[in-house]
Amino acid sequence: MNIKTIIGLEIHVQLKTKTKAFCGCKNEYGNEPNTTVCPICLGLPGALPVMNKEAVNSAIMAGLAFNCNINEVSSMDRKKYLYPDLTKGYQLSQYEVPICSDGQIEIEDESGNKKNIGLYRIQLEEDTAKSIHNSDNTAFLDFNRCGVPLIEIVSAPDMTSGFEARAFLEKLKNTLVHLDISDCKMEEGSLRCDVNVNIKDMDTGAKTNVIEIKNLNSFRAVERAINFEVERQKVILEAGKTEPKATRRWNDEVNETILMREKYTQEDYRFSPDGDVPNIHVTQELINSINDSMPELVEEKSARFVDTYKITKYDADVIASDKNLSNYFEEATKLVKNYKLVTNFLINEMLRRMKDEDSDYDSLRFTKEQLAKLLEFVDKDEINNNTAKRVFREMFENGVDPSEYIKENSLIQISDEGEIVKIVEDILAANAESVESYLAGKDRALGFLIGQVMKLSKGKANPAKVNELILERLNKSK
Ligand code: ZN
Ligand code: MN
Repeated sequence: MNIKTIIGLEIHVQLKTKTKAFCGCKNEYGNEPNTTVCPICLGLPGALPVMNKEAVNSAIMAGLAFNCNINEVSSMDRKKYLYPDLTKGYQLSQYEVPICSDGQIEIEDESGNKKNIGLYRIQLEEDTAKSIHNSDNTAFLDFNRCGVPLIEIVSAPDMTSGFEARAFLEKLKNTLVHLDISDCKMEEGSLRCDVNVNIKDMDTGAKTNVIEIKNLNSFRAVERAINFEVERQKVILEAGKTEPKATRRWNDEVNETILMREKYTQEDYRFSPDGDVPNIHVTQELINSINDSMPELVEEKSARFVDTYKITKYDADVIASDKNLSNYFEEATKLVKNYKLVTNFLINEMLRRMKDEDSDYDSLRFTKEQLAKLLEFVDKDEINNNTAKRVFREMFENGVDPSEYIKENSLIQISDEGEIVKIVEDILAANAESVESYLAGKDRALGFLIGQVMKLSKGKANPAKVNELILERLNKSK
């Protein structure tokens, strides 16, 4: 079968406003449960919600960053459903006209080609309370989250692989964090992503029904859940069966999706305009002023990095596209003046490890000063690159101090010529055959001899010196 995978994402992002969406309660994460609440966000009868301007402005800023139309008039609508975390019996959301529509996000696909993913809409909503389920079958409700402003971003079904979905999420997150309108921390729930996925047999046109996947707690889980679901749906399609539209839950421990419920349809919610919150009117002046106050965007930052630090455009793009990495980079360059070295290390070692672990900058086990210290060893030629990578792994995984670790394991490289010459001569004497074949024109023998010297020095010989000294001696015997 010639299968096409069709993926659309719905992402809820908590806005980093001072107060909640419709009341004056503090919008903060991590407070004592049920302490930042009032009659409005608790949904008590008779309370009157008032729209938070900061939330409106943040939503417009996101819309501008993603090339959306900002709609002149939009309304808050009631999405009705009954659930313990929603005491009003409805969520204030946007239905007919959202505040922003028709945008796009550019990503790179598996082959490195640029691809535009459409955005249907960005709508304003309020968050619900948080239910905490206990192991003894009781549940607690924390209303601090209830009424926190959200934007829901709905993509077009333009993605065709788990890889693309992850690239889309990374770009989305990087941009929103850059704009400073959300923390986008999946582990704290300030970014939540639902995936809609189905597959189509391009030869026969047969399709599976769209399955929504919930409970995804990392970008890696999104990618893995999609890969799992595609394989599961292939079996159904190949057997010529059908399965109803449904919501499935991702189980990260067993790596599979599990049926939760058949899907609600839009009609089930009986949307209707909210009578309390007036329509949102957006003027061109407001759009202009938000546009002017937008922080430095990725492209501008990248250009500045090329200019200031003389790094390549490619490297500058990689760093600039990630706000936290950019900040880290700018801090690190204050400590280490070899910018090329900082750049290479951050991109090739740190970023790679962080992606593998899905870790963030707050939970790094070492300080910037410690990283600077490690790079200083490399810059002064006291350790070679391989040793630096090995030390960094220990710093990243176990939080070791680079100076102490290098000292304890005596990793300082041998640059003393006398010492290296001795090892070189030993190796040349013990490997007459290889010396012969090098002299007979076989260059591969040189690599072998260098490898032997490195091995005998326990990886500590300065590789450049080794190379130089071996060649010197071999050429003498020609
Ligand atoms: Zn409140
Ligand atoms: Mn929503």
